[in-house]
Amino acid sequence: MIDPKSLIDPGNEEKAAVAAVNPAEPVATSSDQPVTTSALPPADTSTVDLASPEELQKMESGLAKINRQGKEKATQEKAASMGMNYVDINTTPINPDLLKLIAPEVAKANLIIPFYRLGKKLRVAVAHPTNPATREVINQLKLQGYLININLSSDEAIIEALKAYESDQYKVKKEISTELDEAKIKNLENELAELSKLGEKIKSANSEEAVYMICVGALRAGSSDIHLEAEDKYVRARFRVDGLLHEVFRIDKSIWANLSSQFKYQSKLKVNISNIPQDGRFNFQVNDRKIDVRVSVLPTEFGESFVMRLLDSGRHLVTFEELGYSGQYLQKIQKLTEISHGMILMTGPTGSGKTTSLYTMLAKFNNPQAKIITLEDPIEYHLEGISQSQINEKGGYTFASGLRSILRQDPEVIMIGEIRDLETAETASQAALTGHVLLSTLHTNSAIETIPRLANIGLPAFMIAPSLHAIIAQRLARRICPNCQEQKPIPSAQLDEIKKVIETIKSIRPSETVAIPDTLPVAAGCDICSHTGYKGRVAVVEMVDVDFEMKDLIMNKASITKIIESARRKGMITMHEDGILKVIQGITTLEEVHRVTSIS
Ligand SMILES: [Zn+2]
Repeated sequence: MIDPKSLIDPGNEEKAAVAAVNPAEPVATSSDQPVTTSALPPADTSTVDLASPEELQKMESGLAKINRQGKEKATQEKAASMGMNYVDINTTPINPDLLKLIAPEVAKANLIIPFYRLGKKLRVAVAHPTNPATREVINQLKLQGYLININLSSDEAIIEALKAYESDQYKVKKEISTELDEAKIKNLENELAELSKLGEKIKSANSEEAVYMICVGALRAGSSDIHLEAEDKYVRARFRVDGLLHEVFRIDKSIWANLSSQFKYQSKLKVNISNIPQDGRFNFQVNDRKIDVRVSVLPTEFGESFVMRLLDSGRHLVTFEELGYSGQYLQKIQKLTEISHGMILMTGPTGSGKTTSLYTMLAKFNNPQAKIITLEDPIEYHLEGISQSQINEKGGYTFASGLRSILRQDPEVIMIGEIRDLETAETASQAALTGHVLLSTLHTNSAIETIPRLANIGLPAFMIAPSLHAIIAQRLARRICPNCQEQKPIPSAQLDEIKKVIETIKSIRPSETVAIPDTLPVAAGCDICSHTGYKGRVAVVEMVDVDFEMKDLIMNKASITKIIESARRKGMITMHEDGILKVIQGITTLEEVHRVTSIS
């Protein structure tokens, strides 16, 4: 920290004289753009109307904006003439930890503010770089070992940005510790082997380290999401593991101010805004894997709450068997990856593993002869040999418009993230009818329900019937922990239910041999399963082939009962029944099957 007293030390004058402004290194600021002057058009004074107070106010704020823009433009030109970078520091996120490098009095007196650091490289915004006092501040930072990159900013922007010193984040007294280097990351990873220590560890870390620790800790625990929820007196940190949220630790409000700013800073969100929802993303590296994090911030009663989705694009693709497909359904889904055209829809709520199953299908379709294009939001895995495209709703690149563009790329197989409107449904159906394989998802509770859902969206029966090839509904039930399970006799109530369901399955699939065992595994909970008794997940599935009989029924607008009857005759068992098969195989429990298929 640069102390104001050190600046009046006469011995420093000499150093100040040699402290030269660093030649600016290339940096992605607006100064990379050719600077053009655009003079304001001359005001038209020929007609003067009396403006209302509201209009006057509008004009005034409009004028202030134009003035400000003019000043920024002038600063930009000045930077260019001095061979420096320009930064509008008022709109640039500032890492609050960095404010501690310069005392507030010094920063205010010299209009200088540090805003970004990578290792020992430090970027500062200054208004008067040739001012001897400013140069002395810069020199002091250099003496601390920093390589300084100077960015010119307007007085107004710096004065505005200096308000960060009045924020809560700054008031928390904590020194910047050393940078997050390779060795430190290795060390952190080892220390985080025990998740329970995470809450303690982040207390003594700087915010950059704390963010990393939380992310790595969540990844280690196999979490898909991190939830940081502001309560009255603390912030609750919960990780979603195998589909369920678990409280992992609590964060002190005194640390939270800094930590939340760091999360926002890294996600390129506006750090000084906390009253509106914001969305952003960042990524972190662990063992050569790059993990993308999608961040959503929501203002809540006791402060901002964060939900972060971890997108591990390097994760290995799972096989249908690993997902939990078995028996007839395994054969069916493998056959589906050999079709040459038609629509395959995967249904289920968020978190039912639809995308994972679709990716496994895509990987099967993937060969050097096939052109495969996806439209996703977000891209969750990166698949080699497949053109993956991220939709951008705000920019007008939607599933519907993207799908039309995709078709011009002449693909064999197309995957679109979701069908939720008629336009997408129609284009998807047309694509399937014109010789493409089309994979997508839909939010419905069961496989059969997809047919009336498409009709409700507005897709006519004459398009649904010929284009639809198969429907798969899926849920993920937790697998029983292999480490702490013990065989126990089946309680009679459970046995009754199992027997009943097995009878039904036998009537639908007479060829299938299923035997109910005397005992089933029960898990007590251990360290490996975080004392939940479960580890990993298995898909419970129902699949419907849209064969000729089914297409006929759809065309004739047959009742759901008729459609279900037809599907049952062809061997369709429900997710609940498929789950029971997995219960008697000792893979999951009856409770889990009830939970995910909502049958009690
Ligand atoms: Zn266990």
